[in-house]
Amino acid sequence: MIRILTLLLGLTLAQGAQAQQLANRLFGAQDAPSRQQPMPVGSYARGCAAGLVQLPESGPTWQAMRLSRDRNYGHPELIGFLQALSVAATQVGWKGLYIGDISQPRGGPMTSGHASHQIGLDADIWMLPPPRLNLTVRERETISSIPVRSADQRSVTRNWTPSHHALLRAAASDDRVDRIFVAAAVKIEMCKTARRSDRAWLQKIRPVAGHDTHFHLRLKCPRGARLCQTQTPSVAELSKGGDGCDETLTWWVTDYLNPPKPSGKPSKPAPRAKTPREFTMADLPAQCVDVLNAR
Ligand SMILES: [Zn+2]
Repeated sequence: MIRILTLLLGLTLAQGAQAQQLANRLFGAQDAPSRQQPMPVGSYARGCAAGLVQLPESGPTWQAMRLSRDRNYGHPELIGFLQALSVAATQVGWKGLYIGDISQPRGGPMTSGHASHQIGLDADIWMLPPPRLNLTVRERETISSIPVRSADQRSVTRNWTPSHHALLRAAASDDRVDRIFVAAAVKIEMCKTARRSDRAWLQKIRPVAGHDTHFHLRLKCPRGARLCQTQTPSVAELSKGGDGCDETLTWWVTDYLNPPKPSGKPSKPAPRAKTPREFTMADLPAQCVDVLNAR
């Protein structure tokens, strides 16, 4: 009896200690997915993921890049989606896709880069149309993607082509996709060139800082994924039901680049929220402890 009590106390203490540890260290140290039913847990930027699967390093129409990072794991629905999208890429004239970071083997916050990509439903896709799909492991560490946005952030570069537009349109038209993040200049260009009669998908293309050499694709919570937190506001709310080619988009190439002088009294800065890199296990949904410790 005493032994059991000591054991239980030990477990509780161990869990208590784990709760205070940095989540990105613990999740970053995992080298295999949990053998659990696939389940995104929490939100894209605060969560973890059970039962992820690895995107094979190479396929007929894709290659996973930067393998040393060990971030080519995703929810089975996302992995299937990416493989299908790489086939769709051949229809716009590409050989396939170079796929960047997805998630760590059990998701969770990362020690470097991304705030999101935590629940196995986000993936970065290179803007570089693959010149070939037999890159060596070493080449995949060293080659770089190409910028499709100018250094001054105001326009697209010559690297942007109609095939990029067609690929993004194909991705955004899929019902499983929640949103796709691109540089504002990319969205501005797409607003100009999208056909008038076919713009509903544009709502899902969202401007964001950075993202000049890749686009970031995000799937909705899969059906029945009860621990997955749907993102709010939705893209429909953000664009008031329109295509998002509005003043909130032009803001990125006006006030964002040249902030107007503040008028009136300076307001007190809001208290800074924790960044995902500062999350402890206690900051994540409770189920992430099971995901971390599962076999
Ligand atoms: Zn990303």
